[in-house]
Amino acid sequence: MAQEQKDNSREFTNGEITIVWRPLRCQFSTHCVKGLRAVFDPHTEPWINMQNGATEEIIEQVRQCPSGALSCFYNDQKVKR
Ligand code: SF4
Repeated sequence: MAQEQKDNSREFTNGEITIVWRPLRCQFSTHCVKGLRAVFDPHTEPWINMQNGATEEIIEQVRQCPSGALSCFYNDQKVKR
């Protein structure tokens, strides 16, 4: 599931966590694509496919985003990771 916000950020959720992607910050370094291609695939729409990865590995990949374009939170906590 993907949702677009007023600031151009997009949200993607698997029901447990939500990734927030801010395209204006993205360096398009493809770090996330190379690290976890099953989830981060620019050739699909939506380009973040939350159902294709485990929650913990998605969180770990989000943490490695060098620009801060990716962030995430647990849906039941609304705490950013
Ligand atoms: S790792 Fe972050 S900056 Fe790099 S392409 Fe992915 S979202 Fe963009």
